[in-house]
Amino acid sequence: MATAESVLKPDFGSKRKHFIFEEHHDRLRESIRSFVEKEMAPHVEEWEETTFPDSIIRRMGELGFLGLSMPEQYGGQGGDYFCNFVLAEELSRAGSGGTTMGIAVHTDMAMPPIHVFGSEEQKQEWLVPAIQGEKILCLGITEPDAGSDVAGIKTRAVRDTHSGTGGDDYVINGSKTYITNGHRADVIVLVTKTGNAGTYDDFTLFLVPMDAPGVIREQRLEKLGMHASDTALLAFQDVRVPASAMLGQEGKGFYHIMWELQGERLIGAAGCVAGAQRCFDKTLEYALEREAFGRPIGKFQAIRHKFADMATKIEAGRQMTYTTAWRFNNGEYPVREISMAKLFTAQMACEVTDECLQIHGGAGYMREYGIERAWRDMRLNRIGAGSDEIMLDVIGRSYGL
Ligand SMILES: Cc1cc2nc3c(=O)[nH]c(=O)nc-3n(C[C@H](O)[C@H](O)[C@H](O)COP(=O)(O)OP(=O)(O)OC[C@H]3O[C@@H](n4cnc5c(N)ncnc54)[C@H](O)[C@@H]3O)c2cc1C
Repeated sequence: MATAESVLKPDFGSKRKHFIFEEHHDRLRESIRSFVEKEMAPHVEEWEETTFPDSIIRRMGELGFLGLSMPEQYGGQGGDYFCNFVLAEELSRAGSGGTTMGIAVHTDMAMPPIHVFGSEEQKQEWLVPAIQGEKILCLGITEPDAGSDVAGIKTRAVRDTHSGTGGDDYVINGSKTYITNGHRADVIVLVTKTGNAGTYDDFTLFLVPMDAPGVIREQRLEKLGMHASDTALLAFQDVRVPASAMLGQEGKGFYHIMWELQGERLIGAAGCVAGAQRCFDKTLEYALEREAFGRPIGKFQAIRHKFADMATKIEAGRQMTYTTAWRFNNGEYPVREISMAKLFTAQMACEVTDECLQIHGGAGYMREYGIERAWRDMRLNRIGAGSDEIMLDVIGRSYGL
């Protein structure tokens, strides 16, 4: 119960705590934080050049971090969805957007569809070793001629009724681009077209082993940021898979992948808030130390107001994301609010990293401070997993427009 005295004293210093998190989340946070500080942060510069090593995924598997909300029967920790938030938030503290993205593709993008739509055999073959960190996953939606317009993809899977296999094989032809983990993955969750009706029922997902004959990992794509991740252009030339490689229902692939994208967008929003907060914290420290005209730059009203503005927007993004996660965890499917959170936090985080770079002055432009990396890495969030424009369209259409 607040006393008159405590009411009069603002508690700026009190520990941040949100109602979605309980004590066991705090313990999880501590152990991930210690792993990030000891085993990731010291290598971040090196991974910008080499990309992060596969051994990080194996190590995270050993520590039980890869299947936090997956059932125990598959080697997961059986936790709630908020555990994935804790992971996303803590990983972002390493300051390597590329590494965080590669891990998130594994845990929060490719893994959930295998868990939800996969057969028991598929779960044993791919989910169990993915949770152990022994197998790496990637997700193939985007193609050279179709990104935002998912229904415009051309990769086709055709049932083979002629080769004496009893019609039990599919032959896949096409290509995918910008595929994160594409060079290191053991399997891809692949979106293909199987129908010709020109409707959303034409699509089917497959689990395609990346060492299957005809899967060609073309060049490693060079990019603005996220350098610690690998990004692949992939070709599929007469790739033969058994019908048992189909993930989920035939003809329901479009709906399956739209469901997958909701989790991808929400975890992305959590990463944006955490990344923005990290940049803010680093910049606040800098602004209290760096002096100009005889005082710390943070003491100028113009700079103080920048911090106030950033803090307010980060907090708005956090509340929006947590509340939406709470609904998602309760089994709701709040597509409108997920789109809002994805849109708002991506724009907010890009604005915040840009202001943080500005407050650092020339130092912000130098690699040494890590702010320019955050600025470059963050920019992807307004494009990947559904661009700002696509989010606006989803939100607008949800009102019947
Ligand atoms: C580093 C990186 C990693 C990625 N990782 C993966 C991955 O692992 N797997 C995967 O499948 N994909 C991945 N992507 C692809 C990413 O999801 C797409 O780039 C994104 O969906 C946009 O598609 P596009 O690049 O084809 O742009 P386009 O669809 O060509 O869009 C170009 C521009 O037009 C706008 N636009 C398009 N349609 C509309 C519309 N209807 N109204 C208004 N504006 C519109 C877009 O917003 C954008 O500004 C990755 C991309 C990058 C850059």
